[in-house]
Amino acid sequence: MRARGFRGTIQVVGAEEHLPYDRPPLSKKVLSGTWGEEQIRLRGQRELDALRAGFLLGRSAVRLDVQARTVALDDGPSLDYGRLVLATGLRPRTLPGTDSLYGVWALRSLEDCAGLRAELLTAHDVVVVGAGVLGCEIAATARQMGLRVSMIDRSPVPMLRQTGPDIGRLLSSLHAEQGVRILMGSGTTGLTDEAGRVTGVTVKGGETIPADVVVVTIGSVPATDWLTGSGLPLDNGIVCDERGRAGVDLHAVGDVARWSHGVAGDGLRLENRTNAVQQARSVAADITGAEDGYHQVPYFWTDQYDIRMQVFGWVWLSCREL
Ligand SMILES: Cc1cc2nc3c(=O)[nH]c(=O)nc-3n(C[C@H](O)[C@H](O)[C@H](O)COP(=O)(O)OP(=O)(O)OC[C@H]3O[C@@H](n4cnc5c(N)ncnc54)[C@H](O)[C@@H]3O)c2cc1C
Repeated sequence: MRARGFRGTIQVVGAEEHLPYDRPPLSKKVLSGTWGEEQIRLRGQRELDALRAGFLLGRSAVRLDVQARTVALDDGPSLDYGRLVLATGLRPRTLPGTDSLYGVWALRSLEDCAGLRAELLTAHDVVVVGAGVLGCEIAATARQMGLRVSMIDRSPVPMLRQTGPDIGRLLSSLHAEQGVRILMGSGTTGLTDEAGRVTGVTVKGGETIPADVVVVTIGSVPATDWLTGSGLPLDNGIVCDERGRAGVDLHAVGDVARWSHGVAGDGLRLENRTNAVQQARSVAADITGAEDGYHQVPYFWTDQYDIRMQVFGWVWLSCREL
């Protein structure tokens, strides 16, 4: 917005206590300990100051009133807006009944990463439930930290939805060669525990795989709970047009947003870093009156062991492959 000459007030509200940071390294360089917190800050203090934006951190938006044009926060007075951009991202899915079990982790935030890393440092056996991009990255990092790692998924191959069956088979071999025990096509039936701490993961067929730490990476849901009843179109995310407009003077971007895409059609929701940045740029253009429809080719990267994989476009799977 500032780069496009916007001179009005900008207020950023964020539930996390931290200034903006980059999430992709959390499953790679930060989890392994190669990078610290300071290396993943998205902007230095000088650049942030130059934005002349207010940051209300550690505060959650709890209600949106589109008629009154206000956003209520969990603490303090509501905020008025002339334009509102919603960028609330995702909430990780959890395995039912495991929320209060010690040793069971999801990875979304810096706190998750610090907690998980601390436990990996003293663990021997790690089970990753879910072999999507995040699961594969965590399995690779834990393996490189010298842990015994098992990865379980109902799918026949890792990253099936993101890369299709052929690359998925190559990924299976890659992880197996690196010493990860791959249990594909096998769902979990439950976790075992002792005194509230996880001890293993039971898979279909009855085997229980020992685990000091279990990382659950079975997907995420758009963080839209607080928008229920706001009148915004919600359907697996905030439904937007091709400029990210979801209502009057209201846009949504990033993981939480389902945009109309010139090629892919309506309702495309992508969960990757490049998409979040490109959509943010498009929204800034739209608000400042420039023509800049969103039509980029979807792109994401993933780092596993010493391999960087870059994926462009979409993978369409037939029912047989799923
Ligand atoms: C561990 C990990 C590794 C990843 N690796 C890669 C990768 O290698 N390549 C890639 O392309 N992508 C990767 N991604 C995905 C990428 O990080 C996301 O696509 C990107 O962060 C999306 O940005 P966003 O702004 O939409 O959402 P987020 O980055 O999730 O930001 C949303 C923010 O909104 C806050 N929030 C939620 N609800 C509220 C509320 N009601 N009030 C106030 N604040 C709220 C959240 O706390 C959060 O800080 C990774 C993600 C994770 C978690």
